[in-house]
Amino acid sequence: MNNFAYTRATDVADAVRAIAADPGARFVAGGTNLIDLMKEDVVRPSRLIDITRLPLDKIEDTAAGGLRIGALVRNSDLAYHPQIETRYPLLGSAILAGASAQLRNMATTGGNLLQRTRCFYFYDTATPCNKRAPGSGCPAIAGINRMHAILGTSEQCIAVHPSDMCVALAALDARVLATGRGGERSIAFADFHRLPGGRPEIDTTLRADEIITAIELPAQGFGKNYTYLKIRDRLSYAFALVSIAVGLEIEGETIKQARLALGGVAHKPWRDRDAEAQLAGAPATRASFARMADAVLRDARGYGHNDFKIDLARRGIVRALAQAARGTPQSQSDKRIK
Ligand SMILES: Cc1cc2nc3c(=O)[nH]c(=O)nc-3n(C[C@H](O)[C@H](O)[C@H](O)COP(=O)(O)OP(=O)(O)OC[C@H]3O[C@@H](n4cnc5c(N)ncnc54)[C@H](O)[C@@H]3O)c2cc1C
Ligand code: SF4
Repeated sequence: MNNFAYTRATDVADAVRAIAADPGARFVAGGTNLIDLMKEDVVRPSRLIDITRLPLDKIEDTAAGGLRIGALVRNSDLAYHPQIETRYPLLGSAILAGASAQLRNMATTGGNLLQRTRCFYFYDTATPCNKRAPGSGCPAIAGINRMHAILGTSEQCIAVHPSDMCVALAALDARVLATGRGGERSIAFADFHRLPGGRPEIDTTLRADEIITAIELPAQGFGKNYTYLKIRDRLSYAFALVSIAVGLEIEGETIKQARLALGGVAHKPWRDRDAEAQLAGAPATRASFARMADAVLRDARGYGHNDFKIDLARRGIVRALAQAARGTPQSQSDKRIK
């Protein structure tokens, strides 16, 4: 057992003061990831700053026609919120594809963004791991890497970000609101999570003294033509091998705008804006979707056990785009697409 201090933050300014004063401190929200990591001795915070009593649990309209989701909104409350069900069903489907009902009742929006990788070497303190102990090595590269990344990897780390919710947020072009000693700032979702590069121990661009206060969704929710397709080893309670979030704007048979984000393939939710731009103006056909899949995966690289993910992702992208195009997000077949 490692000793740690416990503080309960009284407001956001108090939380920022407390985290800035103690570099070894961590915020605790739902605790569903942080407490596990402490029990496994992967992280040893000097202090837990309990933020669960802060007034960050509201879902409100924004002046721009979007939604502002407080960082402490529970995953279940978010998935079943009427505005999410009607305007942003892509986000609701992604959340409900993750974890279990009990975990979703505890897990918060902010905590979901900052959950750590599920790489088993990261959890196993008997093995080296550049993310847990910088400079110690990455046994996954030549080891058991079935769950690992195929895009955006580095020689230091091939871990994936495990969240489902974040894949949908990436596709929706959400923004993360954070407050620190320097005040509040808004971070584009694409800039929030990092690729591993030479510093795999750093997952995000959040600063050490910052607390996430909210997520903002823009007005466009792709409520009609969307899909969240999660491919995993079991039908529930398993992290994604590959997941695909799609939002389409279609006029007649033509794609006007395409959004596509992948989970389970990289250190961050993977967007490829060039491939999305290529699909804009193209007919909604299987041939167009296959071209997009090839473009997204052009630089994909397997590490042995995870080679299968490249073909799985290719097929998954085509199926997800086809499901979204015909407005049947959960269907098993895509016969109506030419
Ligand atoms: C068995 C199991 C299966 C799971 N399966 C899935 C799955 O299939 N898909 C999926 O997406 N997720 C899955 N999860 C992960 C789960 O969704 C996350 O653990 C959860 O979202 C984390 O939220 P939390 O509020 O409990 O975070 P906590 O554990 O409280 O915190 C996580 C991290 O975020 C930091 N933090 C929390 N809130 C803030 C804030 N507002 N500002 C700054 N820092 C903050 C904490 O300091 C900590 O570092 C699973 C978890 C478990 C245990
Ligand atoms: S893939 Fe990343 S998290 Fe996993 S062992 Fe290598 S460095 Fe550690």
